Amino acid sequence: MSGPRPVRAPRGTELSALGWQQEAALRMLQNNLDPEVAEHPDKLVVYGGTGKAARDWRSFDAMVRTLRTLRQDETMLVQSGRPVGVMQTHEWAPRVLIANSNLVGDWANWEEFRRLEALGLTMYGQMTAGSWIYIGTQGILQGTYETFAAVAAKRFGGTLAGTITLTAGLGGMGGAQPLAVTMNDGVALCVDCDPRAIERRIEHRFLDVRADSLEHALQLAVEARDARRPLSIGLLGNAAELLPRMLAEGAPVDIVTDQTSAHDPLAYLPVGVDFDDMASYAAEKPADFTRRARESMAAHVEAMVGFMDAGAEVFDYGNSIRGEAQLAGYARAFDFPGFVPAYIRPLFCEGKGPFRWAALSGEASDIHKTDKALLDLFPENESLHRWIRMAGERVRFQGLPARICWLGQGERDKAGDMFNDMVGNGTLAAPLAIGRDHLDCGSVASPYRETEAMLDGSDAIADWPLLNAMVNVASGASWVSIHHGGGVGMGRSLHAGQVSVADGTKLAGEKIRRVLTNDPGMGVIRHVDAGYDIAESVAEERGVRIPMREE
Ligand code: NAD
Repeated sequence: MSGPRPVRAPRGTELSALGWQQEAALRMLQNNLDPEVAEHPDKLVVYGGTGKAARDWRSFDAMVRTLRTLRQDETMLVQSGRPVGVMQTHEWAPRVLIANSNLVGDWANWEEFRRLEALGLTMYGQMTAGSWIYIGTQGILQGTYETFAAVAAKRFGGTLAGTITLTAGLGGMGGAQPLAVTMNDGVALCVDCDPRAIERRIEHRFLDVRADSLEHALQLAVEARDARRPLSIGLLGNAAELLPRMLAEGAPVDIVTDQTSAHDPLAYLPVGVDFDDMASYAAEKPADFTRRARESMAAHVEAMVGFMDAGAEVFDYGNSIRGEAQLAGYARAFDFPGFVPAYIRPLFCEGKGPFRWAALSGEASDIHKTDKALLDLFPENESLHRWIRMAGERVRFQGLPARICWLGQGERDKAGDMFNDMVGNGTLAAPLAIGRDHLDCGSVASPYRETEAMLDGSDAIADWPLLNAMVNVASGASWVSIHHGGGVGMGRSLHAGQVSVADGTKLAGEKIRRVLTNDPGMGVIRHVDAGYDIAESVAEERGVRIPMREE
């Protein structure tokens, strides 16, 4: 069997591998390709344009086969979605080590990457696609919710009620935007050129309604805004055409951002191209397509700058659209900030980031039990309580039930330890896979996103994600990954991830305590090193040792 077919992770307690660590990797790889989870499972694409879980179906089959027979003292090596070796290691070592999409500096561009990809030598791993810890749109929902909450706090008195947010991109990640805005009580107008993306978000209850036309969308938006009623509206069309039109017509927009797949110019629809012709045109004439996509992105970004000049709160949402517009020659592309320096960095200084866990049992009740236990563990954390309550009400699980919440250094280890106890004492039906996005406090070098405008100018220093991966290997994570490109594209980022399996054993508990202390600890030391005061006080308060401060 080596062709496309539906994939779904097994549920329950019966193992098809030699232990839960291997079984977890197997289930999470399969879960990434579950049609409920992945955007294009037949192509092994999980999310983010072309982010894949395996290089090809033969590689997928080989990984499944190998994970089923992998021993507790062996490690499978994965090179860009293909298993290339099994080495004898030891029980504290990760069961899987993954390196995806990495190219040597001078060669790290889309053209060379695609040439090598066409030769079958590499694949695009995005962040959690090739590292097997994507949990569907919920994964990005909380980060997006927090970002819009920060926008509300900065500009609109703590709520988005009575405001209109204009954005585009309703894909795997971008699909979180409408729900994140309505959770903050605002109105969201979301453009996408793919009718299926709009339908899918409505089906998953992330989006409320679809408008028939721009006029209809604006009418719905203004009515809801005036009634201070949360509402999200999908609008079919090309953002590079609609945004300039809306700007020219003086659309009453308060906040503008974007999550089209702009990081990959072959995944952004140029003006004048029919959506149905997009894939064949991109495949047949990539250079021509790229030029036209970049020109369209320049028009899109120019309209965003126009909204900013007119007084709207405008930010780049981590898809490199400013970089692509600049490549097309638009001089003011970087006039508006990225979302990390604008809203997220203070959280990173505390080691906070997108912590998540998936129930390998497949039972929703396991997640509900962890939700409750987490609220009891952190009774004073109001935003955590608000998030978990809303997520419980509004998030529909995709694939294996999972939960995300942002926790910091000193919190993640407590949560992980408690989860492992809950597995060990039988409260939960089966083990949990505990991981995070690569978009985290100390695991990324990405000058257009996570490390944009660092205080000390260290934006492009990429030693940090490498140290992060190594410290996770040394601390006992179950699988560790180092990727290039991710959400911002080739040549623009290096990032690392880890997943640790809580199987209820004492050994797992010891590993989890170390990993979940050291992994967010990297965020604290990275930001201390860059000169952030908040990080320094967090380090002092939580006993994070920083040699250069011990003189
Ligand atoms: P995706 O490929 O699943 O979805 C992109 C959507 O954009 C598609 O539905 C597509 O139809 C639409 N689109 C493309 N061109 C368009 C155009 N001209 N007009 C209107 N719609 C258009 O991608 P995704 O997983 O949703 O990710 C979106 C972007 O966000 C990517 O660049 C990704 O790398 C980035 N990203 C950001 C974060 C973050 O934290 N902010 C995290 C992960 C990914």
